[in-house]
Amino acid sequence: MAFYSVKYLLLLVVLSARYFIIAGLFFYLTQKLFVAASHKTVVNANPRFKKQIPFEIKQSLVTVFIFALGGLNFVFAKEARVSQIYFDVHEYGWAYFVFSIFLMLMVNDIYFYWTHRLLHRRRFFGKYHSIHHRSKVTTPWTSQSFHWVESVINVFIAVLFPYMFPLHPTAYIIFTFVAFINNVYGHGNHDFVPVSFRNRTPFNLLNSPSIHGYHHENVTGNYGLYTNIWDRLHGTYINPDERKA
Ligand SMILES: [Zn+2]
Ligand SMILES: [Zn+2]
Repeated sequence: MAFYSVKYLLLLVVLSARYFIIAGLFFYLTQKLFVAASHKTVVNANPRFKKQIPFEIKQSLVTVFIFALGGLNFVFAKEARVSQIYFDVHEYGWAYFVFSIFLMLMVNDIYFYWTHRLLHRRRFFGKYHSIHHRSKVTTPWTSQSFHWVESVINVFIAVLFPYMFPLHPTAYIIFTFVAFINNVYGHGNHDFVPVSFRNRTPFNLLNSPSIHGYHHENVTGNYGLYTNIWDRLHGTYINPDERKA
């Protein structure tokens, strides 16, 4: 028990530090350091709601507690040897190592699309998802601002990964960092990729702060996480640049 308590505390520290350092750095760069240049890349120029950032940080810390439990699951799976976690990369090779990262991102992408659509159903939205949508204008701090139930839903698929396929701990850590940075950038309210470039195939299949910013502003369409493939396939994709034009 003491072993898991120490690991949980460690995870809380690491996940909090990750949130404050990465979201904070992004916020500082766009809102404080490069203010003049940031005007050209801003997605939604409307003002934030009163005390938005303290609210988002408070909700994100709730998420940190839930996500740390997800991390603890990985420790448990490793210690109890009830998973497919392996330690020697050569056991499956480097190609599989890289593939397993893409596999996690792909499965997470499909899972997020459908659970996100479910959260937009009237019976769930007000109760669970409206906290995330209080931020009509997003900030990097919005990236983990969820109701605790939504945090549980979000982490659930990652909890299953070590039991689903052979998984190296480093691949899992890389996946969680890619997921986190994608989330911070997606909520950053600044799109640094020029309009012509982000609308060119195949880059237009990737989600962007403009695409997710549209979702926050209009509370409909663009439910995807990393890509908009599932939105395109199910008729929920809206190109914010075309709308603006
Ligand atoms: Zn939503
Ligand atoms: Zn969001």
